[in-house]
Amino acid sequence: IDFGYKKVAKNAKQGLVADVFHSVAGKYDVMNDVMSFGIHRLWKRYTIDCSGVRAGQKVLDIAGGTGDLTEQFSRRVGPQGEVVLADINNSMLSVGRDRLRNRGIVGNVSYVQANAEELPFADDTFDIITIAFGLRNVTDKSKALASMLRVLKPGGRLLVLEFSKPTHEMLNQAYDFYSFNVLPKMGQLIAGDADSYQYLAESIRMHPDQDTLKGMMEAVGFEQVSYDNLTGGIVALHRGYKF
Ligand code: SAM
Repeated sequence: IDFGYKKVAKNAKQGLVADVFHSVAGKYDVMNDVMSFGIHRLWKRYTIDCSGVRAGQKVLDIAGGTGDLTEQFSRRVGPQGEVVLADINNSMLSVGRDRLRNRGIVGNVSYVQANAEELPFADDTFDIITIAFGLRNVTDKSKALASMLRVLKPGGRLLVLEFSKPTHEMLNQAYDFYSFNVLPKMGQLIAGDADSYQYLAESIRMHPDQDTLKGMMEAVGFEQVSYDNLTGGIVALHRGYKF
């Protein structure tokens, strides 16, 4: 199988993404820490800080996976608030649900199996929507962004945390080497699965860069769209509002 985006037929891609996440679900958290040297925790903390979340709000964490953001949001919105962890993949959802329950995160969190492209929620439902390291896996990103806009309340905010394009050429080259040579070997060593991590590297390379994604958010109707580069642009946090 070739894992490059462009060579995979559109509907085959969703099945492929599903296979990848079924296969990595059990080892997902340890791999996250190992591959990012723990830095993903800082990127996620920054996302929470930029969300402006307050007690009592309704938050949707799309492609929520094992629930890192959901956990923090759950603590911040408190008993009057609500967090929905949505993910297309039931293996990731069940790992996430067990993990959060074991940490005592109960009461204000619900779990929904859903495709980001067709969110099964009413218009104007959420104060905050996040999608962290999920958008690059989505087949029709503009459709997904439009779906997020629809379910966001007027005045609400979308945050997209995603791998992006390093801002310096040397960092770009080092990062490419890491992604294509080191990452699949680490995947093989730790998770016994080089192919999924090869897919990860390909999907990062194919993902729209900072300004392209900003333009896509604006094109579907988000306003005041901006982004911050994190770790030299290896990751970017995009923000957009619905007015
Ligand atoms: N947000 C979590 C985090 O930052 O640790 C998990 C990120 S994980 C790399 C990507 C997640 O996106 C997986 O759990 C996968 O099942 C989910 N996903 C992929 N395509 C999706 C789609 N179309 N709709 C919803 N979730 C999707």
